[in-house]
Amino acid sequence: MEKVLAGARSDGKTGGKTLTRRIARGVRVGSLLIGGLAPVSVQSMTKTDTRDIANTRAEVRRLEEAGAELVRLAIPDLEAAQALGAIKRAARVPLVADIHFDYRLALEALEQGVDKLRINPGNIGGKDRVKALAEAARVRGVPIRIGVNSGSVERELLEKYGGATAEAMVESALEHIRLLERESFLDIVVSLKASDVPRTLRAYRLLADQVDYPFHIGITEAGTVWSGAVRSVAGLGALLSQGLGDTLRVSLTGPAEEEIRVGREILKAMGWLQNGVEVISCPTCGRTEIDLVRTANAVEEALADLTVPLKVAVMGCAVNGPGEAREADVGLAGGRGFGLLFRRGEIVGRVTAEEMSEALIRLARAEAGGKSEPRLARGVERRQGDR
Ligand code: SF4
Repeated sequence: MEKVLAGARSDGKTGGKTLTRRIARGVRVGSLLIGGLAPVSVQSMTKTDTRDIANTRAEVRRLEEAGAELVRLAIPDLEAAQALGAIKRAARVPLVADIHFDYRLALEALEQGVDKLRINPGNIGGKDRVKALAEAARVRGVPIRIGVNSGSVERELLEKYGGATAEAMVESALEHIRLLERESFLDIVVSLKASDVPRTLRAYRLLADQVDYPFHIGITEAGTVWSGAVRSVAGLGALLSQGLGDTLRVSLTGPAEEEIRVGREILKAMGWLQNGVEVISCPTCGRTEIDLVRTANAVEEALADLTVPLKVAVMGCAVNGPGEAREADVGLAGGRGFGLLFRRGEIVGRVTAEEMSEALIRLARAEAGGKSEPRLARGVERRQGDR
């Protein structure tokens, strides 16, 4: 199929807010649906050497516990590709093999049961190889992500556009897409990542008018945990607010679990994710008479494992505190050496400054237990015999 189709748009309600989201073709990745009407999923990439099976399994587990719905692994050689089967047997979320240039590694990854490939078909060396890869992936029902980065745009396109512009990135993606479409392979996900936000936004917007494939969104090489998180919030927030994005990865120079935490917080802030704790805390000011920073951090960390939707307020004083705390599921409003505890708008206790953190955590856990049992992130299914 030569022609690529433009995605439709649809209004949908999420968390009481009406959002317009581009409706992309649905692509199944193991137990996870990307695109269609599926929620935006959060993924990350392991930082271990994939050949080190024990450490990679442990990192995948940490990512699952942080809420990852999909995990990607770098496959630099055959030994890494051959390790995939053993890593996958211990994984609860679908796995993606990230491969550059060598289609034999992709074929081995498919043999090992990987759920998705990230490979650019224009870089694997000719039509026969694209055909073999598309056929092997189709037989196993495995989709392919075409991942165009600003640094990977082909030389001819750099010359044509005078650099890695958004237009050059889009044309590069369309060329890769067409190679798969010629083999009637349509289980495609596309990403267009630049290291700056404006170019990334423009590239996705341009491509959204031309294809209906789901988008993996991200800002590549975003930076350290702090600056990368800020850049990702700006870029991914802007894309999501325009209805663009079906799965996201925050790239950080730091632990992969932080990527998941930031990604989930972005979705929560956008109202696209209701699972998990949302801590609302005041910025503190001259009226604050409790150790609010320590309390807010302790509460957020202690409740990070909850996956039921729960709003927890940690407020510093009696001026704005009680009002905000009342709107949360549970909350705390500080006073001089004490705190008032709230549950669904009612004062349920008064505790000393020393007891505050523990008391709020206990109250939050009780409220969470009443809502429903903590469960795995969306799209993740436990398999028989899982730990
Ligand atoms: S809630 Fe109170 S302590 Fe916190 S910033 Fe507002 S006025 Fe200051």
